[in-house]
Amino acid sequence: MSVPQLMVANCPRCGKVFQKNLRNQCSDCSHSLDSILLSSLEFLRRNHRSTNEQLSAATGVTNEQLHVWIKEGKLVLSDYPNLYYSCTICAKPIRQQKLCPECAFRINRDIRELKERDHSFQTLRREKQKASVGGFQILERLSGV
Ligand SMILES: [Zn+2]
Ligand SMILES: [Zn+2]
Repeated sequence: MSVPQLMVANCPRCGKVFQKNLRNQCSDCSHSLDSILLSSLEFLRRNHRSTNEQLSAATGVTNEQLHVWIKEGKLVLSDYPNLYYSCTICAKPIRQQKLCPECAFRINRDIRELKERDHSFQTLRREKQKASVGGFQILERLSGV
């Protein structure tokens, strides 16, 4: 007889064991996060020009958490001119896209270079294949005689 497995995990915020849910954190953390979100929104409503630092000093919210809310659409950056989140690569403050312009430029260049390298590799391979196919044809003709 098998015991039904409870889907449990350790809460990534406080480490407590909890039953897995969509929010991927225990109910205590969900609640405290909700109240931080509410107080953050309330703070921003009154100080909509506040910076990350001011917001964090007032409500205790971390930059990581701010980023999550921005990604989840709970915080709309365009309403708050001085809030920012971090570039995924170099952590420079940005307000749009996932990367700062420098990192975006570098990544695009790297991808282009990779593609070009891959392209010349593919051409080389195709030429090699063509050569070997030609070789086969010659072999077949010879063996057919
Ligand atoms: Zn927790
Ligand atoms: Zn960057």
